[in-house]
Amino acid sequence: MQAFNFTHAKSPAEAVAAIAEKPQGYFLGGGTNLIDLLKEDVEQASDIVDLTRLGLAEIKETPGGGVMLGALAKNSDTANHPLIRTRYPLLTQAMLSAASAQIRNMATNGGNLLQRTRCMYFYDVGTACNKHEPGTGCSAIGGLNRMHAIFGASKECVATHPSDFCVALAALEATVHVRGVDGKPRTIPFAEFHRLPGDQPQRDNDLAHGELIEGIELPALPFAKHSHYLKVRDRASYAFALVSVAAALELDGDKIKQVRLAMGGVAHKPWRAAQAEAALVGKAATEENFAAAAEAELADAKPLEDNAFKIPLGKSAIVRALTRAKGEA
Ligand code: SF4
Repeated sequence: MQAFNFTHAKSPAEAVAAIAEKPQGYFLGGGTNLIDLLKEDVEQASDIVDLTRLGLAEIKETPGGGVMLGALAKNSDTANHPLIRTRYPLLTQAMLSAASAQIRNMATNGGNLLQRTRCMYFYDVGTACNKHEPGTGCSAIGGLNRMHAIFGASKECVATHPSDFCVALAALEATVHVRGVDGKPRTIPFAEFHRLPGDQPQRDNDLAHGELIEGIELPALPFAKHSHYLKVRDRASYAFALVSVAAALELDGDKIKQVRLAMGGVAHKPWRAAQAEAALVGKAATEENFAAAAEAELADAKPLEDNAFKIPLGKSAIVRALTRAKGEA
């Protein structure tokens, strides 16, 4: 790890100013991913600005009936907060399925959005990886790619986004509140926050260097009664998703008034299952209709050598998540 300057920011404006002019400058929240990246030499820092004295850890109701999650609130505090447990149980389930209790106690909400792929080649700096070093190639294409993408990949990168929290936030259509490098606040709809790899796989999101996440806003939603986060993984704890599904329904009797579906473990960003959603609105909430929607969504999947199993797994996961969201086992 290379040596770096370490400072504490006293305000968001001071934090942004301290990093904006430093190409190798980083914000530090919980550090649960950044420290690994620095230790493995995947990233090199000249300056690290600690954010933990900024506040920004509050979880509070918004005037519109939604909830604002402070960027510095810990994942465990967020998942267990009464406002989240009662109004957004989907988010609680997703967060508690992630990582380990120890990591959730350290990791922050803002940092969760910025965590980097766990593609093994990205962390092995001796192998070709366009995300780590653009132009060197992608070792996962033609290599070991069981954990990789089936949607939205490019010939430059087939990595997946590792977060569970973000899959639920995609389904809930959250808004990210950011302090720009000009010191002004701006908001980013969650669907536009993360990127597909395209020809710039080194970029995970559309934040400019030095922009600071201050909060994540959840709108008022009618899904608390009928939602479920299903995570399929190789072991029951401390494993990333092979496939995950965030499912939320608003029902009128047995009829689907509204549905939100997002998938994890299948793309470079949380994958909103728009085709499945379109196939379900106005239909009866039956297993047959859930299965038809899952077929529609997975029809465009493009598997790699090792991960074709994600197609039937993704279909089953959508049906199971919707069934549980409806209230049936
Ligand atoms: Fe690198 Fe992306 Fe290829 Fe993994 S999938 S080796 S992160 S370019």
